[in-house]
Amino acid sequence: MNRILIAEDEARIASFLEKGLRSNGFVTTTVGDGESAYQYARSGSFDLIVLDIGLPIKDGFSVLHDLRAAKVMIPVVILTARDTSQDTIAGLEGGADDYVRKPFVFDELLARIRLRLRADRAPESTLLTTGDLALDLRTRRVLVDGRAIELTAREFALAEVFLRHPDQVLSREQLLSQVWGFDFDPGSNVVDVYVRYLRRKLGEHRIETVRGMGYRLRPHVPAVN
Ligand code: CA
Repeated sequence: MNRILIAEDEARIASFLEKGLRSNGFVTTTVGDGESAYQYARSGSFDLIVLDIGLPIKDGFSVLHDLRAAKVMIPVVILTARDTSQDTIAGLEGGADDYVRKPFVFDELLARIRLRLRADRAPESTLLTTGDLALDLRTRRVLVDGRAIELTAREFALAEVFLRHPDQVLSREQLLSQVWGFDFDPGSNVVDVYVRYLRRKLGEHRIETVRGMGYRLRPHVPAVN
């Protein structure tokens, strides 16, 4: 459910926005001045603001400026009057925000709101993959052929190093320093122990021992029957 903050001082327009957005499944809260808009937007309770420029106490540009200065990155769709200067429009276009000129067609505003919400949600790439092995950095899970496998934090960190360097031979020292930091005695066998744990969970054949050198994640694993 998307929560939208409407900052609009004209009751007629505010009510039109509320009705339209609610009938499209949004939850709305309306404020009628810039200072309230700023305070509400900072609360973290909203997914997007529809922000009128001409607001009492503090205008929409100041609200936007102050939010960004406070590192509040909530998406903002600005409502501008028809006579808003081209400089102003250019300034908005350079930023991450969108604007709709009054008088506006509701469907256009709705389309822009949906676009902003989607852009804000677009997940960064959090998946490292090689062959049928995938590591989801967000959920901290490994997928083997689409099947999720739970790993401990240390196993996950080790798997991550392997997936960032598929088909490369990684020495025990490299793995030790990247996964355990430098707290461990270089003579420790902790790497070998954890490689065994990973093989047990991901399949014995996936991590190859390269004698005298270290370990290698095999990028393409032939089907085993
Ligand atoms: Ca206004």
